[in-house]
Amino acid sequence: MSLRISSAHILMRGPYPLFPQQVEIRVPPHVKGVYCLAKTRNGIKIVARTDQNLRETIKSFTHQYTVFWYEPATSDRECYDIQCRQFHKCVDTDTLESTDHPEPPKEGCTCPICGK
Ligand SMILES: [Zn+2]
Repeated sequence: MSLRISSAHILMRGPYPLFPQQVEIRVPPHVKGVYCLAKTRNGIKIVARTDQNLRETIKSFTHQYTVFWYEPATSDRECYDIQCRQFHKCVDTDTLESTDHPEPPKEGCTCPICGK
């Protein structure tokens, strides 16, 4: 999986329309990962991760948002790494609902961008 920083604001797979059927087609079952949610392609509102079930988590937002991106991860650390990189790409665009920095999953994990 590539984490190469591009000039785009999105490092993840998408955007896809946020319908349950789309989520099932796109997102593999039983993986953890990071997701972004938006009401338009240019305005990411949420950058979040789940250590549980990425597919079901994204589906639970069907009625609140209309577009999603995702990136699967194999460990909590990788989840945090992807979330931080995406968070720092979005935080300056002024579209996020919360500009609080992501919380690390455990001691010893630090943000690859700012070291938090
Ligand atoms: Zn950071």
